[in-house]
Amino acid sequence: MHHGIKKLLFLGAGHAHVHVLASLAQHRPADLDVTVLTPFGYQTYSGMTPGFVAGHYTEADCRIALEPLVRAAGARWVQGRCNGIDPVGNTVSVTVAGGAQGVPATLPFDELSIDTGAVIDRARLEADMPGAATHALAVRPIEAFAQLWPQVMALAQQKPVSLAVVGAGAAGIELVFAAEQAIRQHGMPGARFTLITGGPEVAESYRPGVQRKVLRQLKRRGITVLREACVGMGAGEVLLGNGARLACDVPLLAIGTHAPPWLQGSGLALSDSGHVLVNAFQQSTSHPQVFAAGDVATRADVPHARSGVYAVRAGPPLAHNLLAFHQRQPLKPHQPPTNTLNLLSCGTGHAIASYGPLSLEGAWAWRWKDRIDRGFIERYRVGPRPAAQASGESVS
Ligand SMILES: Cc1cc2nc3c(=O)[nH]c(=O)nc-3n(C[C@H](O)[C@H](O)[C@H](O)COP(=O)(O)OP(=O)(O)OC[C@H]3O[C@@H](n4cnc5c(N)ncnc54)[C@H](O)[C@@H]3O)c2cc1C
Repeated sequence: MHHGIKKLLFLGAGHAHVHVLASLAQHRPADLDVTVLTPFGYQTYSGMTPGFVAGHYTEADCRIALEPLVRAAGARWVQGRCNGIDPVGNTVSVTVAGGAQGVPATLPFDELSIDTGAVIDRARLEADMPGAATHALAVRPIEAFAQLWPQVMALAQQKPVSLAVVGAGAAGIELVFAAEQAIRQHGMPGARFTLITGGPEVAESYRPGVQRKVLRQLKRRGITVLREACVGMGAGEVLLGNGARLACDVPLLAIGTHAPPWLQGSGLALSDSGHVLVNAFQQSTSHPQVFAAGDVATRADVPHARSGVYAVRAGPPLAHNLLAFHQRQPLKPHQPPTNTLNLLSCGTGHAIASYGPLSLEGAWAWRWKDRIDRGFIERYRVGPRPAAQASGESVS
């Protein structure tokens, strides 16, 4: 038995944490004081961001409002960003976000759960791709990207733009298709679209069947593929590894992400890539009172890809283990799936579905993705639907 109120602190409200909050709304022990630290009052769902760019969804469609979810969980919301963790003193240091008032400089905890996602580390970006931090529009943080995207559309309505997406993983592929759809429909004719892979083949982490399907769709849509590294950016141009310069009005960055720099020096056990190293219980291998899930974490026992699907799957075991730790009950191991369903949207209501070695494509796959994505948002919507969402149902 333990005595007194214990503090459970959540950093970020990513895919796993929204589930934990929803489950706390069903059952929260009276001796658990819960605080959620996030920079925004909403969580933007990345899976629907390409659909937002394509014009299928409004921004409101892609958002989970956090305040009602936090309130339903009997928790307190603090608007800010974590910028450091002391797992010996059990405190988190906080940077004020979005003009929030009265935010404490540190937050204490007895138990900590981290689901802040991965980031594009601007210092590393500038070292690898000088000029990119100034000239490119990065897809992360997604909230900033979503706010700036309308400026791209405004430019595309004034002139035939040249748009290049740097990064040909799932996010880059979906974005270039989405941008092409939106600008061909609503921009000036004559726009050009390029996907810069960094060197390898498009959709490198996918099986050959998916790669072939993606390449066929890119060709069909007139999107140029450059299997070159982007080594820098200047005003109106992208510099390539082979010395060529690509004229480019809109460089979008969808490159692989990094671990948050504030984890360095925290004393938490980290993987080689700097992510929080966790065991089968999603619990830090160095500090048992710290848990982590999603893109910020690496499983020490079964490392797996970083994707929303894995982050979602970690939600239920994390919810169980956070309460079990508090109540000194046995923790349950979480076995991440070996294969996951992947649905790659190619814009214009077409998607490629893959599971292990199998891959199929069609409009049905896009409708399937749309249903899953909207269902995810609905699951965590507390209270009435926002007006913009209710009127934004015009999905092609
Ligand atoms: C365009 C795009 C499309 C994608 N589509 C898919 C897809 O279809 N399927 C798929 O499986 N994966 C997809 N991904 C990958 C997916 O986005 C990530 O794997 C997923 O978001 C990871 O979830 P997470 O819970 O770890 O973190 P996130 O979803 O990134 O959530 C992090 C949360 O932490 C908050 N936060 C961030 N920093 C701090 C801080 N310092 N302090 C406090 N809070 C903080 C954020 O505001 C946010 O609430 C896509 C990615 C992109 C960019």
